[in-house]
Amino acid sequence: TDTTELLLSRIRDVADHPEPGVVFKDITPLLADPVAFAALTDALAEIAGRTGATKIVGLEARGFILGAPVALRAGLGFIPVRKAGKLPGATLAQSYDLEYGSAEIEVHAEDLSAADRVLVVDDVLATGGTAEASVQLIRRAGAEVVGVAVLMELGFLGGRARLEPALAGAPLEALLQI
Ligand code: 5GP
Repeated sequence: TDTTELLLSRIRDVADHPEPGVVFKDITPLLADPVAFAALTDALAEIAGRTGATKIVGLEARGFILGAPVALRAGLGFIPVRKAGKLPGATLAQSYDLEYGSAEIEVHAEDLSAADRVLVVDDVLATGGTAEASVQLIRRAGAEVVGVAVLMELGFLGGRARLEPALAGAPLEALLQI
């Protein structure tokens, strides 16, 4: 569609970042274009409406940039999932495996309740580890996950296969497939 063409045209490939051999998908040209940024926000807000979400969870850091305007556009609250050690209040934490080592994310436990239906928003699904851990974290906080929505899925990294068992039937929606 016109929207997918527009979004794709505003993503820049950066070779050898963050390490040799990796082609990083840079979304800063898209953020710098108000027409593309608005089209992306609208497309993600449409998913929020369709899934019946009551809250948007954004994943640090680009998930904050995308998730906050989506939450406002859809008339929903925004909740940040942060890297360990950043949130000041009482948190729930979830660890997950990386290619080398592990990482940990946290959410403020009080910000989610059993009444919440959460859509997780991020820019890129790569290996799926971050999204999988966020789904587990949100469930442990007592809320329901109604889906994960990303701008871009890097299909060759197999993130969908890793994430789908955790999603238990909730949709993974990617606006662009790479
Ligand atoms: P995963 O846990 O799926 O392997 O990695 C996803 C996380 O890493 C996301 O939060 C995403 O922002 C970041 N990420 C991984 N690869 C890329 C990339 O090529 N471009 C961008 N913009 N983010 C990436």
